[in-house]
Amino acid sequence: MSNCLLCGNQVRDSLRFANLFSVTTESWLCTSCRAGFLSAENKQAGNMKAIFKWNEHAEHFVERYLNMQDDELSKCFCVEVSKKVRPKLAYLSLSEASQQILVAAAIPCVILSEQSQQTEIGVFLMCSAEKVQLAKLSGVHGEIVHVLVLFEEELSCE
Ligand SMILES: [Zn+2]
Repeated sequence: MSNCLLCGNQVRDSLRFANLFSVTTESWLCTSCRAGFLSAENKQAGNMKAIFKWNEHAEHFVERYLNMQDDELSKCFCVEVSKKVRPKLAYLSLSEASQQILVAAAIPCVILSEQSQQTEIGVFLMCSAEKVQLAKLSGVHGEIVHVLVLFEEELSCE
């Protein structure tokens, strides 16, 4: 038995039973919380790919994760993240919070000072707002071949 990391309700047995047949054996969110996160499936721009759309659920998650230092929450999306990363690629994260998510999902990750050995690297962002920081990255030696964003904000004014 486990409890949903977001609302504390019990994660139902039926859900866990269904998971026996998929890649993962563990579900950290209840069905109703999980349903609040909408897939950004068709969103791909160049080498950049988003996993979820930005909505109020995403906003609450990020707020709680960052402000309450709730490290447990880094596990919430490890299934989704590990499905979207490229195999054999190490990912660079721009903050400790996003690195924590990679670690929870057992994705190979690198930090800026240690990535000089890589010829190709990926970048993992929690929100697409971090793209601004990405543009400032001057210390990257390898080629950034994949940018994975957990939550993609909608471009509201264009
Ligand atoms: Zn829940």
